[in-house]
Amino acid sequence: MRFSTKAIHVGQEADPATGATIVPIYQTSTYTQEAVGKHKGYDYSRTVNPTRVALEKQLAALENGAYASAFGSGMAATSAVMNALSAGDHVIVSDDVYGGTYRLFSRVLERYGLTFSYVDASSTDAVAHALRPNTRLVWIETPTNPLLKLVDIRAIAEVASAKQLVVAVDNTFATPYFQQPLALGASVVVHSTTKYIGGHSDVVGGVAITNDKALHDTIKFHQNSVGGIPGPLDAYLVMRGAKTLALRMREHERNALAVAQFLESHPKVERVNYPGLTSHPHHELAKRQMSGFGGMLSFTLRVSEERAMAFAGTLRYFSLAESLGGVESLICHPARMTHGSIPKEERDRRGVTDGLLRLSVGVEDRDDLLEDLETALAAL
Ligand SMILES: *Cc1c(COP(=O)(O)O)cnc(C)c1O
Repeated sequence: MRFSTKAIHVGQEADPATGATIVPIYQTSTYTQEAVGKHKGYDYSRTVNPTRVALEKQLAALENGAYASAFGSGMAATSAVMNALSAGDHVIVSDDVYGGTYRLFSRVLERYGLTFSYVDASSTDAVAHALRPNTRLVWIETPTNPLLKLVDIRAIAEVASAKQLVVAVDNTFATPYFQQPLALGASVVVHSTTKYIGGHSDVVGGVAITNDKALHDTIKFHQNSVGGIPGPLDAYLVMRGAKTLALRMREHERNALAVAQFLESHPKVERVNYPGLTSHPHHELAKRQMSGFGGMLSFTLRVSEERAMAFAGTLRYFSLAESLGGVESLICHPARMTHGSIPKEERDRRGVTDGLLRLSVGVEDRDDLLEDLETALAAL
């Protein structure tokens, strides 16, 4: 079965009780047992819920994984994966990581005795040099947020497999439609399903997918023990969104490439970061590792930071908002918005400067988006 067919059919069998073609929203916390301990495999909805199970089967299939655990947010999924570690363990993290991930690692998990080294993971050597005897996990994002740098998943997995490290890939930006980290050697894939997988900016969710039974058992154990599950309605919304992931991603990419090329040719634009541009320093790796370049890009304008920030509020179709991956276009100012929890010196060191703007290019008509940008740039 191929990608689009899986998205629509895996886990989506007609409801055994009624024949309902669409998986129902099983809005129940508990299940009536026939006799003590005699039930249909469902006892309590933190542990197991049929709507969530359907979502987990569907998303596992999209990543070509055997097992998935769905969560109430991307951060809950990240946290569950990190629960596999113990005090004293060391983690290597790609430095251009999602701001909330950095906050979880630096302000929560460090207090629990984990240590983190942030490295430019687009250099596999930098990852190899950061290895310590107690390193247990490598956490990478690719393409990275907001600079759209690429990390060579296969190369990192090779470095890690020699030491039997867990390689976790946050695949939120690329989506399984354009990138399949498990096939490249990653141990576990994490998504904020809030973004492209849900796709309509109407639900917050997360998922962790793996082929490793032992790792899955640990994640599942924490899903139930810590309890960061999605409710049945949220599981349903993510599942419905995921059915059209392929269609949406093709259009996101077409629009993003057009926007990236337009911006790159504009005299008021200093620099555009989009892996689909031949000018992108990791374009060759992107072509090798991904089957498409996605819908995210960032750029800097040849104007002051204040005017760049003001520009972000003048667009008609790009709403000024955090988040990404919905059908509607968004613009954000990472330094003040998504990455505001990272100290300024650290942001500057990573290249997340105050003049950087990030676009999540939606699936509106391409010409409307280009005209919108053209008008706003002309007014600068
Ligand atoms: C949004 C996001 C997260 C966090 O997900 P939530 O659903 O907001 O908890 C993690 N990683 C990336 C790359 C994201 O964009």
